[in-house]
Amino acid sequence: MQLKGKTAVVTGSTSGIGLGIALRLAHAGANLILNGFGDVDEAVAQVAAHGVKVGHHPADVSDVTHIADLFAYAEREFGGVDILVNNAGIQHVAAVEDFPVERWDAIIAINLSAVFHTTRLALPGMRERGWGRIVNIASVHGQVGSVGKAAYVAAKHGVIGLTKVVGLETATSNVTCNAICPGWVLTPLVQKQIDARIAGGTDPQQARQDLLAEKQPSLSFVTPDHLGELVLFLCSEAGSQVRGAAWNVDGGWLAQ
Ligand code: NAD
Repeated sequence: MQLKGKTAVVTGSTSGIGLGIALRLAHAGANLILNGFGDVDEAVAQVAAHGVKVGHHPADVSDVTHIADLFAYAEREFGGVDILVNNAGIQHVAAVEDFPVERWDAIIAINLSAVFHTTRLALPGMRERGWGRIVNIASVHGQVGSVGKAAYVAAKHGVIGLTKVVGLETATSNVTCNAICPGWVLTPLVQKQIDARIAGGTDPQQARQDLLAEKQPSLSFVTPDHLGELVLFLCSEAGSQVRGAAWNVDGGWLAQ
């Protein structure tokens, strides 16, 4: 129960990686503010099963006024935010010349600008209370490109840059800021890309194998549990001198 008494906000925590991280933090005793769309009740019930205080805030993180409202709610109902996990993210795959402008704007708003807004709103309270952890779920695509992912790759490179600056600006304090760079994790976001291969005539098992074989040498998916454990480490005393890092959990993707 190393995080008992702390409050964590995990954006985009109603499914996939965010829910996995929220469950791990709750298991370690943290109170949780969930965020995101879809099956909210199911996500809240899973986290509440750990016996911690749980809330859900419906902020659309592409809207700065919603993010301000999320932080006002956290202050009012939980007494502030000690752990901020910026996880909400979306994807769209298309060549640059065909990339819908509206999708570019949405990806930059959700995957990058939201991280700036949550961070600037979380930092004063963390500094005041003398402890804080900011973990940004970036991607291998924060360090290398892939065809068709212009907006996502640009946003994730931006997140790693922002992480370095916040890591430096908090370097002499008990607040740390780091990024985690997952390779393929089998979540709804990636399932859509597998479905596109299936729609092109590949059978489902083969589509998953092909996706892994192209990029991920382990030929196995990273899991939300793997990422949740790393978040816990970054929240621990042993993780307190990891600052401004971009930590790969990618089955060897970036070693190539
Ligand atoms: P997912 O689609 O399963 O979950 C995304 C979550 O974000 C959901 O809870 C959704 O409701 C929420 N969300 C989407 N738009 C939102 C908005 N405007 N406001 C608030 N919440 C919103 O995706 P995932 O694969 O779990 O991705 C989570 C993060 O991990 C993303 O930042 C993604 O870029 C990153 N990531 C994923 C992979 C992967 O292989 N799945 C790899 C590297 C990085």
